[in-house]
Amino acid sequence: MTCREAIEVLADYIESTLTPAELEKLEAHLRECAPCRAYLATYKRAAELAAKVNRVEMPPEVRQRLRDFLSGPLGSTP
Ligand SMILES: [Zn+2]
Repeated sequence: MTCREAIEVLADYIESTLTPAELEKLEAHLRECAPCRAYLATYKRAAELAAKVNRVEMPPEVRQRLRDFLSGPLGSTP
């Protein structure tokens, strides 16, 4: 497996949707490829962070500010 192939299946790896054969190939690659391990760690953290952010309720004032922003001059320009 090349680094390119490894990175292509990383999202599936995190979602645990890889086939056992793909999983084995990826894990073998990760064992001998430090850059891909680092990439996976970063990717995982970003995925976890995104999941966390989505669960958190947006504070009303932020929501209001966002609405103001969207309906302001910027949002109404053609
Ligand atoms: Zn690699």
